[in-house]
Amino acid sequence: MSTNSYLQLGSVEALVVRKPIKNLHLSVLPPNGWVRVTAPANMKDDAIRTLLALRLPWIKKQQAKFTGQERQTKRDYSSGESHYFFGKRYRLEVVYKDEAPVVTLKGKNKIILQVRPKSPAIKRREVMMDWYRKELHTVVDELIAKWQKKMGVEVKFWGIKQMKTRWGTCNHKRARVLINLELAKKPIACVEYVVVHELLHLIEKKHSDKFVALMAKYIPKWKGIKEELNSFILSYEEWKY
Ligand SMILES: [Zn+2]
Repeated sequence: MSTNSYLQLGSVEALVVRKPIKNLHLSVLPPNGWVRVTAPANMKDDAIRTLLALRLPWIKKQQAKFTGQERQTKRDYSSGESHYFFGKRYRLEVVYKDEAPVVTLKGKNKIILQVRPKSPAIKRREVMMDWYRKELHTVVDELIAKWQKKMGVEVKFWGIKQMKTRWGTCNHKRARVLINLELAKKPIACVEYVVVHELLHLIEKKHSDKFVALMAKYIPKWKGIKEELNSFILSYEEWKY
């Protein structure tokens, strides 16, 4: 059971969702930087307001980053733009050639996007996304093989999907894992953390103490990696399933 209400704090309006939980969770959500607070069912408005006030600098910072990221997503895949690939920044060079489209890395910091003449931005984007998907698939495939063995679990199905608010999902019952395509832009350590997180759900469905203990055992530096990831997606919320 959950109930919704709104709280206004200066220029910040927050959606408050009350649930039978222990701790308060704060999220800044896409695409407009709206604030959502998930609070314990019996927590008073004043207490939530106080906690929000304390986190106000953080909220503003997330909202500001959000505006920046919005600008970034409006890229149209033309020469000179910066694009990330496994945590490294590359400069995009578009080459028009009447051959099958292909993406290659050149030197230390160039991504060559070769498309047919007159290919529009939407096509250029599609070719880039296909490339990201293929590259991420190779990396995740290796990581899943490695961690299945280490953890003694078995994934029945896994895939890569473009998702807006989650880095990965795991269907505990069906042993089905989905990994966010956006991870092709993040450092491999981040990809590995997400893979381990999702595989852990095959052992432990919830983010329980046991889950956290296992995570710390497998990836001792997981907290720092999680922070790095969330600074990208701009959401402080817990992984939800
Ligand atoms: Zn989880």
